[in-house]
Amino acid sequence: MARIKIKTLLTDTDTGTNVLVKGWVRTRRESKNVVFIALNDGSSLKNLQIVADPAIFDEKLIARVTTGACISVSGSLEKSQGAGQTVEVIAEQIEILGDSDPEKYPLQPKKHSLEFLREIAHLRPRTNTFGAIYRLRHQMIFAIHKFFNDKGFLNVHTPIITCSDAEGAGEMFRVSTLPVDGVPKTAEGKHDFSEDFFGKEASLTVSGQLEAELGALALSEVYTFGPTFRAENSNTTRHLAEFWMIEPEMAFYELKDNMDLAEEFLKYLVNYALEQGAEDLEFLAQRAADEDKNKPVDQRPELGLIERLRFVMEHPFERISYTEAIDILKNSKPNKKGKFQYPIKEWGADLQSEHERYLVEKHFKKPVILYNYPKEIKAFYMRQNEDGKTVRAMDILFPGIGEIVGGSQREERYENLLQRIREMHIDEQGLWWYLDTRRFGTTPHSGFGLGFERLMLFMTGMTNIRDVIPFPRTPGNAEF
Ligand code: ATP
Ligand code: MN
Repeated sequence: MARIKIKTLLTDTDTGTNVLVKGWVRTRRESKNVVFIALNDGSSLKNLQIVADPAIFDEKLIARVTTGACISVSGSLEKSQGAGQTVEVIAEQIEILGDSDPEKYPLQPKKHSLEFLREIAHLRPRTNTFGAIYRLRHQMIFAIHKFFNDKGFLNVHTPIITCSDAEGAGEMFRVSTLPVDGVPKTAEGKHDFSEDFFGKEASLTVSGQLEAELGALALSEVYTFGPTFRAENSNTTRHLAEFWMIEPEMAFYELKDNMDLAEEFLKYLVNYALEQGAEDLEFLAQRAADEDKNKPVDQRPELGLIERLRFVMEHPFERISYTEAIDILKNSKPNKKGKFQYPIKEWGADLQSEHERYLVEKHFKKPVILYNYPKEIKAFYMRQNEDGKTVRAMDILFPGIGEIVGGSQREERYENLLQRIREMHIDEQGLWWYLDTRRFGTTPHSGFGLGFERLMLFMTGMTNIRDVIPFPRTPGNAEF
C-alpha cells in the first residue's frame, strides 16, 4: 500500500478505505479500552487521530508510541465519533520507525516560548507554529515565482560572491582562503589580496541588483531571488545577517511604473496567502491575538492579522514625497513633544524606523510609498531629479515593520552616473562593467528589493525576524 499524506487523507479520501500513514506522534492519550494517537506529518496543521484498541496490540509496542516518536500506521479511515475531527484511522498495524525518549525529548505537548524554540531550531519545525510558518514560507516562494512567471519576467541567478564593494547597502562579509593568521602585505604595508583566491578582495553579496540590471538591459524584465548577506551588528528584530531578497529589474519602467508593480506584487502575495494558506493563517492569527492580550492596551494592534492582510489588499497605498513626509513629521505631536529619539529638524534628515512607523501606523494608517528622497541619503545609482537635490527612490513602509521594499528608478545617463560615482568616492574602475551598460544602448529602467523575511513578518504576524527563517544568522548566532 502506498503511503498517503495526512492533508490528502483529511480532504480527499473516502471513508471505509484502507490507508497507510506515517508521521510523528504529537500526543498519546489512553483510557481503559482505547488509545488515541495524534499524528502529524507536516503536510497540514491538523493532526490525524489514530484509534488503537489495546487488546489487539502488544503492550510494549503501545508504550513506545510516545511524543516525538516516528511511526507508520495502517488501518481503515472512518468517520470520527469524537469532536474535533471528521475522520480518524482505526489502526490495524503500527510500526515504530524511530523511538523517542519522552523524558529527554525537548518538545513537550505544551506551549514553549519562542526564545526556547530558537535554541532548538532543529526540532522547532515539529511545532504547530513553525509548521505553519514553514508552509506559508513555501507558499510565498512559490507565489513569487508564479507572479513573475505569469508576467513574462525571467529569473536570473546573480552571484553570491562578489568583488564589487560599491553597493554600499551594508557591511560585507569577506570571502577569503588566505591564512587566518595574517593577510600578506604589499610593499606599502596594505593588505595584499592579489594572493587571495580571486586575486582581489571578495565578499558575500549584499544585493543582486547591479547584476540584475545587466539582465534587464538585455531581457527587459528579470528578477533575482537569492540570499544576501549583511554584517549588520544591530541586533534588531528586523535585521538578519543572512536573508533572502526578491529583486526585479525592468527596462523601460519609470518610477511610477516601479511603484505600481511593487504595490500589485505585494497585494498579489497577500491575496495568495489568504486563499491558499487560510488554515495556517487562522492559526497564526489566533496565536498573535493571544500574544497581544499580554500587551498594554495602547500597544495592541488595532486590527487582527487576517483583517490587517485584508486591509492591505483592499486599499491603495498612500504615495507621498519625502518632502511631504518631512512636513508631516515636523508638525507631528511626537516631534513637537520631543517624543522621537531622533527629532526631525529639517529637510535632508534620514528617516528612522520610529518616523516610518509614525507615518504608517498613526498618520495614514495604511502602507505608504515614500518617493523622491534627498540624494545624500540614497545610493549612487538612483536617477537624479531635475531639482538637483532629490533622486527617484521609493521605499514602501508597512505597519509593524517599517521598510519592506526599497527601490528606485536607476540613473541611466552615463555622465550623470559617473559624476555621482566620483562625488561619492566610489571605485569607478571596479564598476566598469556597470558603466558600460550606460554607454551601449542605455534606457530608463527601474527595480526594487523586497526583503523576504520582512514580508514573512507581515504575513505571519510574528514579531521577531529570527522566527520567520528556518535557521537565523545574527551576531553571535550560527548554530544549526
Ligand atoms: P533598513 O533601513 O531596514 O536596514 P535598508 O535600507 O538597508 O533597510 P535595502 O538596502 O533597501 O534596505 O534592502 C532592501 C530590502 O531588504 C529592505 O527593504 C528590507 O525589506 C530588506 N532588508 C534590508 N536589510 C535587511 C536585513 N538585515 N535583514 C532582513 N531584511 C533586510
Ligand atoms: Mn540597512
